[in-house]
Amino acid sequence: MKKLLTAAAAAVLMAFASSPALADAKNPKIGFSIDDLRLERWARDRDYFTAAAEQLGGKVFVQSADGSEQRQIAQIENLISRGVDVLVIVPYNATVLNNAIREAKKAKIKVLSYDRLIMNSDIDAYISFDNKQVGELQAATVVAVKPKGNYYLLGGAPTDNNAKALREGQLKVLQPLIDKGDIKVVGKQWVKDWSPAEAMSIVENALTANGNKIDAVVASNDATAGGAIQALASQKLAGKVAVSGQDADLAAVKRVAAGTQTMTVYKPLKLIASEAAKLAVALVRNQKPAFNGTYDNGFKKVDTLLLKPIPLTKANLDVLIKDGFYTKAQLGN
Ligand code: BGC
Repeated sequence: MKKLLTAAAAAVLMAFASSPALADAKNPKIGFSIDDLRLERWARDRDYFTAAAEQLGGKVFVQSADGSEQRQIAQIENLISRGVDVLVIVPYNATVLNNAIREAKKAKIKVLSYDRLIMNSDIDAYISFDNKQVGELQAATVVAVKPKGNYYLLGGAPTDNNAKALREGQLKVLQPLIDKGDIKVVGKQWVKDWSPAEAMSIVENALTANGNKIDAVVASNDATAGGAIQALASQKLAGKVAVSGQDADLAAVKRVAAGTQTMTVYKPLKLIASEAAKLAVALVRNQKPAFNGTYDNGFKKVDTLLLKPIPLTKANLDVLIKDGFYTKAQLGN
């Protein structure tokens, strides 16, 4: 009997422990669901985020979906049943998480969309860098090197809302020059999963179709820029064709230093991760976090915090060392 009672009491206690009504404000449980930890930047995001959240008293459970939308949905459901207080999500596919988010909301779990916006869902907040501005910086820096000529637009993953925001920013700069006739867009394509291999084959085909007459590739991140530059290198065009990127991946920064990539965009990941940790904890504590805008995700105007990206060319790569993003030794100088 005593044993039975204990078991029953334990069950009640467990139910309470995972009860959303009793969100643990002092030590919030945070589920961090990341699209793909195999990519350089996301592993950094995880490390910075976990450190910042722990400093605030949080406990972080990290899951990587390794680029699978099914796995991400299952992992989010698992985090919900583990009784987290808040979910922080980097979506693989922005448009398939509606049911999972609905379950989270039913369980009174707060949801923060991290770097990429979850569309058509009742999320609580969104944090990112200003992706439209990233696109503008990419196009403007490439235009400064190649003000006229044939341009190829290499977009990001079609499942990622950022890819569209980047394109919007790029076109804000390019459209007037296209209209003037200075720039001709000879082709454009989205790169599935931001895959470097796919980017390489797209640019190989574009070079063939245009008899190698391409002056600039507006690539939307460093991974795809890497693929594009491999295709250019096999035609001895690396360094002759202007190429953009973003993320300040180590390989990309080395390409910028070597002159085969024109620019990258540095997004201080420690900043987004620590701001996100603050936001996540504030949501659980029902405090009003400091936002600087809203972003319509098709369901509602989501409270948003957008951070400022920093353009990098060969001339200012030292920003990365000053900011502690890389050591001098890593950059090889
Ligand atoms: C991020 C980029 C990243 C890309 C691929 C985008 O949503 O904003 O920083 O390079 O995803 O992971």
